[in-house]
Amino acid sequence: MDNSQYLDDLLKCVRCGSCKALCPTYDEDSTEAMGARGRLRLLYGLSTGELKPTPLLIDRVFSCILCGSCSGLCPLGVDIEEAIYHGRSLLRSSDKKRQYLRLLVKFSLKNPQLSFRLLSMVQYFLFPYLLKKGTLLFEPELPESPLNDGHQVYSVPKKKGRVAIFTGCMVNFLYPHLGVSLINVLQGLGYEVILPSSEVCCGVPLRTIGLEEEAIKLAKKNVRIFSRLNVEAILSLCPTCTLTLKEQYPKLIGEGLDNAMDISSFFIERLDTSHLSPSTSNFMRITYHDPCHLKYGLGIKKEPRKIIKKIGIELIEAGGEGCCGFGGIFSLSYKDISQRLLQKRVDAYRKTGANAIITSCPGCIMQLSHGAKDMPVLHLIEVIEEAYFANNPSSFIPHPF
Ligand code: SF4
Ligand code: SF4
Repeated sequence: MDNSQYLDDLLKCVRCGSCKALCPTYDEDSTEAMGARGRLRLLYGLSTGELKPTPLLIDRVFSCILCGSCSGLCPLGVDIEEAIYHGRSLLRSSDKKRQYLRLLVKFSLKNPQLSFRLLSMVQYFLFPYLLKKGTLLFEPELPESPLNDGHQVYSVPKKKGRVAIFTGCMVNFLYPHLGVSLINVLQGLGYEVILPSSEVCCGVPLRTIGLEEEAIKLAKKNVRIFSRLNVEAILSLCPTCTLTLKEQYPKLIGEGLDNAMDISSFFIERLDTSHLSPSTSNFMRITYHDPCHLKYGLGIKKEPRKIIKKIGIELIEAGGEGCCGFGGIFSLSYKDISQRLLQKRVDAYRKTGANAIITSCPGCIMQLSHGAKDMPVLHLIEVIEEAYFANNPSSFIPHPF
């Protein structure tokens, strides 16, 4: 995007303030620059040369969670998230605070398997050290191997259809069991499943720290790989990945993956009550957490709930709404705000009396599990898998993870 186009977009803003209504950072700190409108004003000043990239300005632009709660609220259609992504790319050389992080993220995404092996080797002293230093809030547990290990085609005897999975970094390297659950259910329903080993990161972690050009390269590669597969749908367990493939790529590179889908949109048409049995479910009273990119970005709210009801599990709504405070590196860079947002959601979920929280995003699972230690936090696919194989126990494939 050139500067004049960017300024035109920013100039669409009439400063009505509607975008602040659901902004979680503004809710926590009601100063103008902690909300969407204030950030856009700062970026306008930066782009015209009226403002300098001071540490405070940089901090305010990077304090956005990129949750997308604001974009749908703008009557003028300002794409606030895109404006902030672009603003961060303009600030990448002035932002010294994240220089090492940029190098680290670039290296990791260029060499994901090597980085995973290196991290696995040092995790038992590195994670406790980072925890002690306050860099990490809890110790992640790495699985023995990632999900996408080169095994690319999961065939079925009587093929009903063919789908691909966009694994995404969190599922691939932290929660591979979720991917196995998805493969199991898809195979149970008669779908051949493809996991291209050449998949690369969707690019969001790069965009959040201003590495727009690097993200463009990844976007082009993913579009090249996945558009050739001739599949009915590209499914992801991460709404951020789905949103990126489907909605952000067209803005970034002029083409996206139209058939990228969240699993609830896919299963709502393909799973009916005859496939599902709630009888053995461990979690009969649950509450549901809406991931921001699923709800605000993809507009999906009813589908997961309908699936939960089809399973026969009691769903207790927590009331209110809001971000869990994860936002990738946001949760590490703005710990106080992130923890306060987390606490608000966890308190609301505890009050329901539910015995588990179900959500549809691996990032939300990581954040909520840390906050709600006394309540299990599960991905919707785990509940679907349990209900599906309670009904079809003979076809269950045990998890390697
Ligand atoms: S993306 Fe989220 S945190 Fe950022 S300005 Fe919009 S509502 Fe606020
Ligand atoms: S809602 Fe749109 S027009 Fe109103 S302040 Fe926010 S970005 Fe500007």
